[in-house]
Formats: sequence, structure tokens, C-alpha cells
Amino acid sequence: MSAIRVTVWSEHVSERREEAVARAYPRGLHVAVADGIRAVLGNAVDVTTRTLEEPEQGLPEAALAATGVLVWWGHLAHDQVTDSTVARVRARVLDGMGLIVLHSGHLSKVFKSLMGTSCNLRWREGDDRELVWTVNPSHPIAEGVPHPLVIERHEMYGEFFDIPQPDELVFVSSFSGGEVVRSGCCFNRGKGRVFYFSPGHETQPVYHLPGVRRVLANAVVWAHNPAPSPIVLAATLESPVDWFRGQRAPHGARG
Ligand code: ZN
Repeated sequence: MSAIRVTVWSEHVSERREEAVARAYPRGLHVAVADGIRAVLGNAVDVTTRTLEEPEQGLPEAALAATGVLVWWGHLAHDQVTDSTVARVRARVLDGMGLIVLHSGHLSKVFKSLMGTSCNLRWREGDDRELVWTVNPSHPIAEGVPHPLVIERHEMYGEFFDIPQPDELVFVSSFSGGEVVRSGCCFNRGKGRVFYFSPGHETQPVYHLPGVRRVLANAVVWAHNPAPSPIVLAATLESPVDWFRGQRAPHGARG
């Protein structure tokens, strides 16, 4: 089986502005996330990193076409992501590319455009202890993940989290302050799979935790769709009687 082509995208802004972030992620959040995925999946993945300042914001058409699963980390620069970048990413997700949205990416234009809601949630930057509870133990993203997965100090993200009802809910987190949040949520969009995972505050080095790395790796495998359905997602298709007879569905062809 050929390796899953993973692109880890990050705006790469906080690391260069705030000392606490540079301390937690000296080589950048994207590099830590990429390292974590490689550490768990080895040769089963081919991981590249891209950042906002690269040509076409790191995500030109050709790079997206060659990506099986895109991982997204953003926070300060959501507004700098252009509508055309959002449109390219969204189209690829609908066409079968997997998408993993991390932490403050809940407010990214890409995620909001795929969800259709505000995606707002409550938050408190403090020293809460976060417990990530598996609520769907047969789900592949939960495989091998500690129950609960303990994050000793983390930013609180709490309900109400304004997302559509997830197609599958995998994790719910609780915090020292008493709040809870749906922290691991799966969505089907077009031919693509989307997973949102809330841990990952930039000043707290959670992407180095083995349990978090395991979640990310599992999510990559889950979101990857090697042979997207040949069903065409076009807006209008004229359909004379018996249009479906004699059609050939090319296996593995992209629509
Ligand atoms: Zn944060």
C-alpha cells in the first residue's frame, strides 16, 4: 500500500511573536505535529509541512491535489487566509481529501465554511487540567488512546460549542473548572471526512504527548480516502430516463 500523503499546514505566526510559544514549539507547531504523526505511523505516511507565507499560502492547487489528508493549525491569522485558498481547500475536501482541524482552527474560515455555523465556544486561558474522555471506544480514532487522556495544564475550551451535531463523537473533555467540551468530532462533507480535535494550545506543549500523537495518527488513517466515490457532486445534472444504465464507475477515479 502506498503511503498516505499528509500535509500539515500552520500559519506559523505565534511561534515568531511570543516567547512562550517559541519555548513550547521551537521549530514551529507544524513541525511538532508532523513529527508526531511520523513517529506513530512511520513509512505508512509521507508528511510535508506548509505555512501561510509560502506562495499561494502554502496550498496551491497542485499541492492540494497531491494531499490525501490536510492537517490545519491556525489562530492569529485566520483573517489573512484568502477566500480563494478557502475555496481550494473546501473543494478538495468535498472531492475526498481528509481534513483534520486542530485547536483554535475551530474559527478558521475553512472549518466554518464546511460547518456552516459560527463554531464559537467558551474559553479560558489558565492552568486547567484537561481530561479527554473516549465516548466511542469502537471508533478507530480512539484506538490505543488512554482513557482518560490527561493533559496536566491546558487552556479551557467549553460548551456551548456552536457546531452542527457531529456525525460521530469520539471524545468529550472535562476541565478543572467544571466545564466540558466535545473535543473530538467527526463530520462527513461531500466525499471527504473532517475531524476536529480541540487540544493544542500554542503555549502548552501538548503535541509532544504520546496520547495526543496517537489521536492525530489515528485521525490521519481514518480521514484518508484512497478511492473517493465516482459519484459526481455537480450542482445540476440533466437526467433523461435510464441515464444510469451503461455507466461505468471507474474504480478509484476522482469525480
Ligand atoms: Zn489556544
